[in-house]
Amino acid sequence: MPASTAATATAAAAAESADPCCAEPLPVLGRDVTVPLVTGGEVTYAALDYAASAPALQRVWDDVAAYAPYYGSVHRGAGYLSQLSTDLFENARRTVAEFLGCREGDQVVFTRSTTDSLNLLAAALPADCQVFVFETEHHASLLPWRDARVTYLNAPRTPGDAVRNLERALADRDPYGPALVCVTGASNVTGELWPVRELAAAAHAHGARIVLDAAQLAPHHPLDIAELDVDWVAFSGHKLYAPFGSGVLAGRADWLRAAEPYLAGGGASRTVTRRTDGGVDVEWHDTAARHEAGSPNVIGAYSIAAACKALTEAGFDALVARERQLIRTVREGLAEVPEVRVLSLFGDDAPRVGVISFVVDGWNSSHFAAALSAEYGIGVRDGLFCAHPLVRTLLGSAPDEPGECGAPEAAPGERSLNAIRVSFGAGT
Ligand code: PLP
Repeated sequence: MPASTAATATAAAAAESADPCCAEPLPVLGRDVTVPLVTGGEVTYAALDYAASAPALQRVWDDVAAYAPYYGSVHRGAGYLSQLSTDLFENARRTVAEFLGCREGDQVVFTRSTTDSLNLLAAALPADCQVFVFETEHHASLLPWRDARVTYLNAPRTPGDAVRNLERALADRDPYGPALVCVTGASNVTGELWPVRELAAAAHAHGARIVLDAAQLAPHHPLDIAELDVDWVAFSGHKLYAPFGSGVLAGRADWLRAAEPYLAGGGASRTVTRRTDGGVDVEWHDTAARHEAGSPNVIGAYSIAAACKALTEAGFDALVARERQLIRTVREGLAEVPEVRVLSLFGDDAPRVGVISFVVDGWNSSHFAAALSAEYGIGVRDGLFCAHPLVRTLLGSAPDEPGECGAPEAAPGERSLNAIRVSFGAGT
């Protein structure tokens, strides 16, 4: 099959105008960028890799530009600009708390990314904590727990199986020690939604806590920590239509307060005194600042808050309705191509966000993605998407078969060892 057939089924379908009842795409950076084609000429770039990094909303960029002339240090200066920046930073925290539906007493910690947020939580686990995580997770939620007592749960084939697998594992756990379940809200490979509320209920019924990796959920769905009854949520600014460099860990304060600071340094420490024996004593803050040592990324926090406001104002109902239509169009287009196999854990009817991975019979996925870029100006992702165990399961590969790095050529007609991912969102 020529790449053009799938190109038509992906980009053309995604570009098709949506139902007028749904929102217009939100203006994003890079919308009008033209790129050269190997065949000569140029074309407007089609950004279909939102799951990796979504283009920043123009509105967020404008808000940051409006603030930039007033840029100052946070929590450090007495000057007007420092005070202003401190206010903006702390207001950003409140905006994020509101966006997430945080409970009284929850903390919002600004981090660098989802990866950073989950590593922070891993560093704050109480002693002897048992961790339960599905093998299907993105590496950011699969790997940070390796110093704890981790149970890796097999890939479930239905949302109900996921809940049952977790319940079985939790029933066998040491009932007296602390335990944490880590689960993604929406898969970065299949786009499928996980039964977060049910998993949270199962975790709590067994005395465990739960952290939601919302890296892919937050940009596509309203989130409500209290309503989902999860203990923590982690997400990244650059997937939520804000620029790079900032993320959030929000939720219960007690484990975070009891833990050593994630980084030691200024901002995290309330007082530091020299002992008579020559050493140094530190009293750490017990607010979010405890885990935000160093000069805070005020632009990052401010831009995440600006994105939260922009999405709330645009209205998730309209954004979700529009995205559902795009998902349907892309999936229907791909279904018309017999050589295409869409990857799915929970089946075709599972609710999902705008993330669709597939393989094309007879094509090496990396070559296919390169052809989409070079010949059609369509930017997608190829590989194992930092979720190697999940993609290998979906491809039917052996658990230790190579993939992303060094996948051998798949000869025409041979099974692909990696996949192609198309993803879109509020700006598509
Ligand atoms: N979790 C999921 C589900 C993701 O898709 C990603 C990134 O693709 C991450 C975590 C890690 O996000 P970041 O790279 O921003 O830390």
